[in-house]
Amino acid sequence: MTLSAATPEFIEKLMTALPDGTISEAPAGYLSEPRDLYQGTAACLVRPRNVEEVSIAVKLCYEYGVSIIPYAGGTGLVGGQVADIDPAPILLSVERMTAIRAVDPDNNTMTVDAGVILTDIQDAADQADRLFPLSLAAEGSCRIGGNLATNAGGVQVLRYGNTRDLCLGLEAVMPDGSIYRGLKGLRKDNTGYDLRNLLIGSEGSLGIITGATLKLHAKPAKMATAMTVVPSPEAAVKLLQVMQSALDGLVSGFELIHGTSLEFLADKLPDVRQPFADRPDWMVLIEAGGGEDARLDERMLSALEGVIEDGLVEDVLIAQNMQQRQDFWSVREHIPLANRAVGAVSSHDISVPVSAVPEFIQTGFDAIAELGDLRVNCFGHVGDGNLHYNVFPAAGLDRNDMLDKRVAIKKLIHDLVHQFDGSVSAEHGIGRLKVADLETYSDPTKLAMIKAIKTALDPKGIMNPGVIVRT
Ligand SMILES: Cc1cc2nc3c(=O)[nH]c(=O)nc-3n(C[C@H](O)[C@H](O)[C@H](O)COP(=O)(O)OP(=O)(O)OC[C@H]3O[C@@H](n4cnc5c(N)ncnc54)[C@H](O)[C@@H]3O)c2cc1C
Repeated sequence: MTLSAATPEFIEKLMTALPDGTISEAPAGYLSEPRDLYQGTAACLVRPRNVEEVSIAVKLCYEYGVSIIPYAGGTGLVGGQVADIDPAPILLSVERMTAIRAVDPDNNTMTVDAGVILTDIQDAADQADRLFPLSLAAEGSCRIGGNLATNAGGVQVLRYGNTRDLCLGLEAVMPDGSIYRGLKGLRKDNTGYDLRNLLIGSEGSLGIITGATLKLHAKPAKMATAMTVVPSPEAAVKLLQVMQSALDGLVSGFELIHGTSLEFLADKLPDVRQPFADRPDWMVLIEAGGGEDARLDERMLSALEGVIEDGLVEDVLIAQNMQQRQDFWSVREHIPLANRAVGAVSSHDISVPVSAVPEFIQTGFDAIAELGDLRVNCFGHVGDGNLHYNVFPAAGLDRNDMLDKRVAIKKLIHDLVHQFDGSVSAEHGIGRLKVADLETYSDPTKLAMIKAIKTALDPKGIMNPGVIVRT
């Protein structure tokens, strides 16, 4: 597939077809991404105000064979929203599409434009006395179109699922500019292929999401949050089952935190308050939310005290107020920042079956130790089997001296994930970063289907070229 340059004639056509102020040069901030791994190019930035304007822009791109990079909040971690390709693509941002189109508390749904910031959706749900449970550290910047395009996970997947599970209907502009109007708020709709779920997680490679009908949940009347010291990842996995039974399946967050995370926090972000005076090797942050159960924290404490005798838990703190709850979460949420300040040699967003987590962690520790002076910081949503398994130089060594080991480390971890029947991208997607990994570790028939779908829906290959499928 040959892509065309966005010639002055093409830009002129775009400017004539769309209202004044829609097209501009792309400021530098749109051409980089959070980890500075990619630097993009763009012939121009297009910022439409509604689905019709998106459709006009995409139709012209289709006609001229000009490629498009869909852009929402710019927080993606696999380089999907920035592209250094020749000829330069247009960057199409949904940031001006920020309407909350409708809230239907009786149907437990909210219909929104793709450019609404995630926290604004959470707030709108709250005002309707409902919960939109998607929550992640980038929530003040990322937009729902980007969350859907990457099928974001976050800290409450255990109870409420990924973004995919929180979406009932979609509106999208397809690569030829046609509009798919699928904004239905139905829980049951067995009318052929599930196009909504095809577009969710497609990272802008099949079309541009312009609107969504989201699923709302009842607001838990009471939250209970605990920070626990556990002796090992084995104990953490057993504890998860104990807590789910004791709390009737109300556990919504179950985050494993490694001693190395705490060491990095103490070193790089000393203002983050650490819950235990003696730094433990392993902690688990547990959160549960209950409908009417005002005594949820008492039940949580009693369940945790019960397992201290069995050795599953060594120490417990229950949050007594909102400030303490925030302090606990602050520890978890600042780990990526501390990691960045230390500088990883190689980072991995992986998942394995929950039952395999302890063996995976230990096998990885042993294998990494054989590669040299390295240390692992391993933390994450262990209730979903999702770990951020990041490898750093040993204390006192510099990351730049170890970069020659990056390829070997990545291969080692990803081979191990494959061996444990896991996924080399649990949350962040494939983007441009993991295309080779997808090719290496996927089932061949899955790969063939992915390519066939891409070719059928985007025959000219203009939609986010190089993402998921190699061009
Ligand atoms: C600090 C931090 C913490 C994070 N924590 C988590 C976490 O706990 N769990 C998790 O799952 N993820 C996490 N992420 C990743 C997060 O899920 C994504 O960054 C976010 O969902 C992307 O949204 P965005 O609006 O920034 O999209 P962008 O970064 O703008 O785009 C991401 C991808 O989606 C495509 N895209 C954007 N908008 C559209 C659209 N309207 N239609 C079609 N395609 C589109 C882009 O082309 C790109 O491929 C974290 C990221 C950061 C920076």
